[in-house]
Amino acid sequence: MSRFLEAEINLQALVDNFNTIKSYLQSKKGHTKIIAVIKADAYGHGAKEVSKALEAQGVDFLGVAFFEEALALRDSGIKSPILILFDREIKGVFEQNLIPVIFDLKQAQELSKEAVRRGRVLPVHLKIETGMGRIGIYEDVFSTIKKIASLENIRIEGIMSHLSEAENQEWTMKQIDKFIKIREFVEQMGIKAFYHIANSAGLVTNEAILDAVRPGIALYGYGLNCSGRAISLCLKPIMTVKSKILDIRRLPKGVPISYGRTFVTERDSLIGVVPVGYADGYFRSLSNRAYMIVRGKKAPVVGRVCMDLTMIDLTEIREAEVEDEVIILGSSKDASITADDLAQWAGTISYEVLTSLGNRAKKKYIKGGKEDDC
Ligand SMILES: *Cc1c(COP(=O)(O)O)cnc(C)c1O
Repeated sequence: MSRFLEAEINLQALVDNFNTIKSYLQSKKGHTKIIAVIKADAYGHGAKEVSKALEAQGVDFLGVAFFEEALALRDSGIKSPILILFDREIKGVFEQNLIPVIFDLKQAQELSKEAVRRGRVLPVHLKIETGMGRIGIYEDVFSTIKKIASLENIRIEGIMSHLSEAENQEWTMKQIDKFIKIREFVEQMGIKAFYHIANSAGLVTNEAILDAVRPGIALYGYGLNCSGRAISLCLKPIMTVKSKILDIRRLPKGVPISYGRTFVTERDSLIGVVPVGYADGYFRSLSNRAYMIVRGKKAPVVGRVCMDLTMIDLTEIREAEVEDEVIILGSSKDASITADDLAQWAGTISYEVLTSLGNRAKKKYIKGGKEDDC
């Protein structure tokens, strides 16, 4: 017997999210290209399968962080244009037909040299700093763009920047204003490129919807689906994480549970043992805070989360049995646990929950599943 920890990925829900974003963009602006961000193994959902599903929908571009992610996609037969966000790879870009994002002059010069050597013209995107403080051309911006534009065999196809606080309209407008100034400058140089700055959260700001957008988290059903936002799209979480109860123990009042004895039974209790722990991305900070769903009901996590095991209180769910399904992330009957819930309990963000939990669980891909009524 082996440990059961499964991340079920609903590819139909992914496709629905993609099309929801697409129609939203159409209603705002006519045609806007979508660069689907699938870095970090598609936020823990499996980049290969997610890319295949999006490619079948005619996604314009896929966006990865590093060259090796793009290579793995090409090896599995993905043909879509792939943008590499954060890498200085030179040779592989040509061999695998990829589009690098250029963030400094030296990188551009090296790519140009290789393009000339191969007799190829390389499409590139330029990353410009407007307030993220991470990566992008930031010194002598205009003259650097000019220098890059004059390099041989480099074709500037896109120009991009990144929002650092998209939920703050005032700050976002400042970043957009900077970016538009750059656009005017580049257009005066006679360069025709397409422009993109919006991540998922940026979609709430009309001015951020330029020629293309780069949603990541929204594709996986988070970020814009909560009410109380400026826009609320009907996005569906696509990952469910499940395990099975390994053991149920009948304990009297006064028994300490797990390391540090942070929880002591306050009554005669049924304590379930679940084979998931912080080594699976079930954060230790969820100790005594989170819930798991058993038989449609929420059971509180009790005591510290261990490396491979977590204990839950099943005293109120007396019908529970060993090998019952445990939903760690997902919903069943009226109970639901979202990545936002786990993030709140753990003091982090849904992105970290998804990338962490998706990591070690065995992935199973399904099409369809139950309809959400939104
Ligand atoms: C990760 C990333 C995105 C996607 O961000 P979300 O918040 O997940 O939509 C877009 N652009 C860049 C440059 C990124 O690094």
